[in-house]
Amino acid sequence: MIIRKSQAEIEKMARAGRVLRECLNLLGRMIEPGITTIELDRVAEKYIVDEGGIPTFKGYQGFPGSICASPNDMVVHGIPGKVRLREGDIVGIDVGVTMDGYIADAATTFPVGVITGEASDLLRVTEESLMQGIAQCRIGNRVGDISHAVQTHAEAHGYSVVRSMVGHGVGREMHEDPQVPNFGPPGQGPELREGMVIAIEPMINMGGSEVEVGEDSWAIYTKDGSLSAHFEHTVAITKKGPRILTVATAAGA
Ligand code: MG
Repeated sequence: MIIRKSQAEIEKMARAGRVLRECLNLLGRMIEPGITTIELDRVAEKYIVDEGGIPTFKGYQGFPGSICASPNDMVVHGIPGKVRLREGDIVGIDVGVTMDGYIADAATTFPVGVITGEASDLLRVTEESLMQGIAQCRIGNRVGDISHAVQTHAEAHGYSVVRSMVGHGVGREMHEDPQVPNFGPPGQGPELREGMVIAIEPMINMGGSEVEVGEDSWAIYTKDGSLSAHFEHTVAITKKGPRILTVATAAGA
C-alpha cells in the first residue's frame, strides 16, 4: 500500500532531510586518507542527535551503525569499523535521519584524496543517473519511467545496474511501498501521484551487475570486485514537479 503524505508531513521529512544533508556535508569535509569509518559514524551520530534527530539506521534489523560506509567494491550496507580509508578509495556513505517521526534517506559516494579518472567518472555518472531518475518524478508518470531513466544513463556509459536492491517509498517507515528499481521498461509500475515520497538510489557497478553478501551478512560486494557507487535522494512528488527533500535549503531543488 502506497501511503501519500500531506504537505505538513512532507515539511517534516524535509526538515529531517536538511539535517541529513548537513551531516553528509560534514562527513565529506572529514573524509581523507587515514580516517576510519567508525570515526565518521561517531561524528554522524553526534551531529544527528545534537540536531534533535534519531539516526534511523542504528538498530534497524540489528544494524550497529548510524551510517553505512561502503568503500570501493562494497556496494552498500557497510558496517562502520576500524578500516582506514586510503588515498584513491571511494566510499559510499548512506544516512537515515528520523525527526518528529518522519524519515529522510540519502547517500553520496565520496572520493578519498585523489582518485583515478575512471573512478571519478563512475561517481559522476551515478549521480547523473540519480538526477535523470528524479527528473521523471512527475504526476502521471510511472515508477518504471524512473527505473528506465536511471538504467539508460548508467548503461550508456558502459556500467551496470545492481538488480537485487532497489529504492523505496519512505515516510514513517524507512521502507514503504512502492519499490523503485533502477532498471526496467518505461511506462510500467505504480503511477506517481501527488504526495508520494520515494527514495531513489542507483547502485552502479563499473563491471558486472552481480553482487554477493559479505561474511558479516550485511555488506554487499560486487561479485567481480569492480568499483561500485551509490547516490540517493528522498524525493516528494508535487504539483510543481519533483521536490528533493534531502538538500540543505528549505526550498528544495
Ligand atoms: Mg534507501
